[in-house]
Amino acid sequence: MRRVASLLGDFPGHAFCQDCLAERLSVPGPTAWAAAKALAAGPEFELGAWFCSHCLDRPKDVVHVRWIQPAATSEHDRPERERFRFNTDDPDQ
Ligand SMILES: [Zn+2]
Repeated sequence: MRRVASLLGDFPGHAFCQDCLAERLSVPGPTAWAAAKALAAGPEFELGAWFCSHCLDRPKDVVHVRWIQPAATSEHDRPERERFRFNTDDPDQ
């Protein structure tokens, strides 16, 4: 399970399906997937249906580092307006 965690940590933003995860770690698929499921119970990793970043087959069950940017770790409500603050290029000025 630590190896799964370090593999996923090495590829943030990459998703691994069971087959690719197993191949990377040279362990049986179910073993890899059991570790992936255990990791996904924590805050750092996530399971979902997505394209595997490696076989790029089709959406299927994959495990990956949770999709968050480091800047967005504090999830308290950021005001919607923030997004427009730098968008004030008024053509009349
Ligand atoms: Zn794959």
